[in-house]
Amino acid sequence: MWATLKMRARHRTFAEVLNLNPFSTVKPYLVDTWRWGTMPYRAWVHATAKKQGTMPVSILYYHRVADDDPNPWTISCNGFRKQVDWLVRNFDIVSLEEAQKRIRSGFNDRPTVSITFDDGYADNTVFALPLLMKRNIPVTYFVTTKHTTEGTPFTHDIDHGRPLYPNAGETLRAMAEAGVEIGGHTRNHPSLADIDDQQVLFDEMITATREMEQVVQQPIRYFAIPYGQVEDLSPAVFRMAKEHGFAGVCSAYGGWNEVGGDAFHLQRFHGDPRISYLKNWLTLDPRKRNLWQTPIVEKMMEESGRFPASPELAGLHASTSPNV
Ligand SMILES: [Zn+2]
Repeated sequence: MWATLKMRARHRTFAEVLNLNPFSTVKPYLVDTWRWGTMPYRAWVHATAKKQGTMPVSILYYHRVADDDPNPWTISCNGFRKQVDWLVRNFDIVSLEEAQKRIRSGFNDRPTVSITFDDGYADNTVFALPLLMKRNIPVTYFVTTKHTTEGTPFTHDIDHGRPLYPNAGETLRAMAEAGVEIGGHTRNHPSLADIDDQQVLFDEMITATREMEQVVQQPIRYFAIPYGQVEDLSPAVFRMAKEHGFAGVCSAYGGWNEVGGDAFHLQRFHGDPRISYLKNWLTLDPRKRNLWQTPIVEKMMEESGRFPASPELAGLHASTSPNV
């Protein structure tokens, strides 16, 4: 699997990024068979975690909910509603702030999930956000400053042959007023690990987020790393986020958040349009137990060959404070 992760970000398409899951070439019914076959083990893990207060915190990321122009980063309205129904029945659906509280507390005996969206697709205001708001489900909505302020389509949609449109600034402001937590997602959606110039990195992460705060008229507390795979992360990104007051940074390579572990780096996995895959993740797939540990990013960076195990990064995690 890590051989796949070693592919450089600029050589990957957006669809490839979302299909890193080794199960992605497996038919959904086989995933269901695997899930049901391992259910006794999952039930034991679940019961043990509940008893010991070590239930990991799951965080999902979606992109776009719509019935037209399907692509790997779009889920149908009905598919999304089914996922939300299943989540409501089986989990506490919490804000990122509450997710962090549960991670930091060192004890969590409740199945917990948090919902996030990346990029800021206009279509999400038609079905997904009204559904979540009607049910009082918290959501964090990460937006790319350039696209939402200029109304330009995302590069990955242009590359895919179908430009789709982002939310307008006034829509985002209305969403923020209605209780949606708006998060930062850079200005241009680059792979941040490719940026060596600190001024450029500062503009993408900090200046762009400050501009978005002006648009939505609210402080922005969380940041999601574009693409979010291991090779898109760097110590400089975490350092800059921490130094400039972000409360947390989200990646997207998969993995649960271990209770008592790192609450600053929030690991997420994809809200896969195929609900079999989603359920497989959320019921704690035993094949992925190695991802049930934090902080694993150092290990993965080391394996990726891009970053030697660095005392600097280790220090960042060690110094994680509830105030930043
Ligand atoms: Zn994105």
